[in-house]
Amino acid sequence: MGSAAAARIGYNVRPMSRYYDLHSHSLASDGTLSPTALVQRAAAAGVDVLALTDHDDTSGIVEARQAAAQAGITLVAGVEVSVTWGRQTIHLVGLNIDIDYAPLQAGLARSRDYRNWRAGEMGRRLAKHGIEGAYAGAMARAHGRIISRTHFAQFLAENGHAESVRAVFHSFLKPNKPGYVPGEWATLEEAVSWINGAGGQAVIAHPARYTMTASKRRKLLQEFVALGGAGLEVVSGSHSRGDNFSMAQLAKNFGLLASAGSDFHGPENPWVELGRLQTLPDGCNAIWQDWQFDACGTRRAAS
Ligand code: AMP
Ligand code: MN
Ligand code: MN
Ligand code: MN
Repeated sequence: MGSAAAARIGYNVRPMSRYYDLHSHSLASDGTLSPTALVQRAAAAGVDVLALTDHDDTSGIVEARQAAAQAGITLVAGVEVSVTWGRQTIHLVGLNIDIDYAPLQAGLARSRDYRNWRAGEMGRRLAKHGIEGAYAGAMARAHGRIISRTHFAQFLAENGHAESVRAVFHSFLKPNKPGYVPGEWATLEEAVSWINGAGGQAVIAHPARYTMTASKRRKLLQEFVALGGAGLEVVSGSHSRGDNFSMAQLAKNFGLLASAGSDFHGPENPWVELGRLQTLPDGCNAIWQDWQFDACGTRRAAS
């Protein structure tokens, strides 16, 4: 059908091929751009629909929404919830959440309390290992917002304890390394219920990145689906192309919708830039397939 005919009968005639990036970070967590600068950079890179998904925190959403309205793109209210599942840390992205939903905010506040305690414990463990000042150094880099391992990594790298932020993670901040504290985050069930209760859709973030056997991964997806999880981040800036294809197959097998997100944290990590995501592999059902937009490009809540 031509677009004129579609318009006559009231179809949505906005361009079909919007560019979606449904995973990104700002200064509200461990990103390095303000929500406004992030949104402006995304718009300049050709992103039409951006989700801001800071770790365990939604305090950047209001500013990002205003910036998106100014830049003429759509902002999806999101969050990346830290989960402990079978002694492993898993990340869930929540999309199109009502940020005023009290149980969600109470849960995120509990996760941030745990973050604060963990930061002190990381500082104590690093001090025992001969590295002084890591807690204060990380806090200074968190700008009074949530404190992340990334902030510790920045301090350690700047003070010559390793060559790069990546190298710091490898030597100090991963499981079994001196600064690592095992996670005690929300359960999978809690995180899905916070997101669903807030009217959102829960998505397993960067699924190819977790170190687990194929059978454990299937168990995770089974539980996630049973709890009401909606999607899998099939395309991720932190996946290889091959990962994207294998995750597409997995999404199909479990009847999960496919999401796509850069996991952009800032321009200093040039290997993950905005506007460069692979398109969803054939056969995926996009998580945005039923999303409705009004004439201004603002996403309307699904009825
Ligand atoms: P946290 O939630 O405080 O435990 O920190 C997790 C964050 O650390 C992730 O969201 C990434 O931004 C960052 N991160 C994890 N592993 C690495 C790595 N190997 N290199 C660089 N950054 C990493
Ligand atoms: Mn991060
Ligand atoms: Mn993550
Ligand atoms: Mn992320």
